[in-house]
Amino acid sequence: MFSGVRSLGYIFIGSDKHIFYFGPDIEPVATARPGDIIHFETMDCFANQIRSEAQLITQIDLSKANPATGPVFIEGADRGDVLKVEILDIKTSDKGIVAIAPGFGFLGDKVKEPRTKICDIRENYVYFTGKGFAHFVEIKLPYRPMIGVIGVASDEKIPCVIPGRHGGNMDTKLITKGTTVYLPVLKRGGLLAIGDLHAVMGDGEVCVTGCEVSGEVLVRVDLIEDNPTPWPILETDDAYYIVVSRENINDALYEATDLAVKVLAHSLALSWDEAYMFASMAVDIQISQIVNAVKTIRARIPKEYTTATKLMEALKQ
Ligand code: CA
Ligand code: CA
Repeated sequence: MFSGVRSLGYIFIGSDKHIFYFGPDIEPVATARPGDIIHFETMDCFANQIRSEAQLITQIDLSKANPATGPVFIEGADRGDVLKVEILDIKTSDKGIVAIAPGFGFLGDKVKEPRTKICDIRENYVYFTGKGFAHFVEIKLPYRPMIGVIGVASDEKIPCVIPGRHGGNMDTKLITKGTTVYLPVLKRGGLLAIGDLHAVMGDGEVCVTGCEVSGEVLVRVDLIEDNPTPWPILETDDAYYIVVSRENINDALYEATDLAVKVLAHSLALSWDEAYMFASMAVDIQISQIVNAVKTIRARIPKEYTTATKLMEALKQ
């Protein structure tokens, strides 16, 4: 639990209140005001169905994949606004699950049989243990908790395993403590839901899971009125990221690049040609995940070259 946070405008949402899809008709389980702090308790991406390494992802009910806790109605949020979500803290369970199965993940054609591995999490490390070629191995990875699913009500029914303009299963490791996520409000109240925490994940999430954990997330919500954004935006200490999800990864790469050039042209008062040349030196195109049915990439624009206001003005046009 998070200590010291019991102020007015604090809302707790238990993991029993969850959705398996985003859509226009999802029902709010609570109401928050701009400025409020919301504490989400989340199940892992398997709805906590896996308890031992003997349980395989091929044996569980995958219709219960990626439950997202919520949704929360934000007072005053209307279509065309942006919901600002500051990630204040993330806590996770002390065990995490990594799993493979034939046909799952980027190299799913090479996987011969399903396997589940449970990793211990302690003292800021995730422990990957098992039998190597001839000996027992234990490799530790830095604990870097992040949020896989964060989104709002969408125009169409979209399962929580699919990312999109509404956010959803973006599986972006930068969605972590200290980051601000800007989501386009598509329905009245926004309807924010969060789930699918990972104790650590690499860009790509190649085998189809991160280190899957249940946990808790503390966020502060706010509204930026009348500022539609076509895709979720992330803000970290030093950069903004436009997060684009498309079925075809090339379409995602093209659209994110195009938008980044537009942002630079507007922010720096450059012609499109100049902004395009400048982007080639200043913008990083990065992969978030390549294993969901819809792929997610992000364009990184350093803060030296734009502001949240300029960026949103440019994307609005
Ligand atoms: Ca995920
Ligand atoms: Ca996951």
